[in-house]
Amino acid sequence: MPDLSYRMLQIAGVPAGLLGLDELFEALFEENQPPDAPETLQLLIKGVRKHNFIPKPAMDDYGKVLVREYRHYFNDRSSGGSGAGRDYGQWDGYPREQIPWFPTVSLELCTGCGKCLEVCPKDVFEATKDGKVEVVEPFLCIVGCCMCKSACDPHAILMPERSMLDQYRHGQRHAT
Ligand code: SF4
Ligand code: SF4
Repeated sequence: MPDLSYRMLQIAGVPAGLLGLDELFEALFEENQPPDAPETLQLLIKGVRKHNFIPKPAMDDYGKVLVREYRHYFNDRSSGGSGAGRDYGQWDGYPREQIPWFPTVSLELCTGCGKCLEVCPKDVFEATKDGKVEVVEPFLCIVGCCMCKSACDPHAILMPERSMLDQYRHGQRHAT
């Protein structure tokens, strides 16, 4: 069997590495499966489960992210693109997806004021239909930045402790 593709996604605030996503997306695209058709969610869940474990309590969160990612893939392929996952680059020699530095938004505390959207120089956040903000591209977040957290008056944004980054500096993680 050929090597399967590997993609890291952020699901409910936790990075999840998934095998075989590109192959699944391509197969659905080839079948002209529309991303927003009612049955697409179940087709995605079933396909992902062939090579990955999805915890039951996280099923809704997986479904939401998988449909969003498939929509990106479908739209990119429909306009002549390769559908390839985004290249997030590296940080201090590590693939960016391996550095768990990104904001987490508390939906209970978020007032939807939009300040985080204004101050963030990257496309990390997106406004939701219900007037809140969610993290859609965690690995675009600049490692070490905290601007959105400082701008958020109701303290709805959490960032990791800076000291967490020490273990990734200068190859220290490999040395331990
Ligand atoms: S700044 Fe804070 S309260 Fe305002 S939209 Fe962003 S997360 Fe929500
Ligand atoms: S920490 Fe900086 S780069 Fe990251 S989401 Fe907040 S404002 Fe954007």
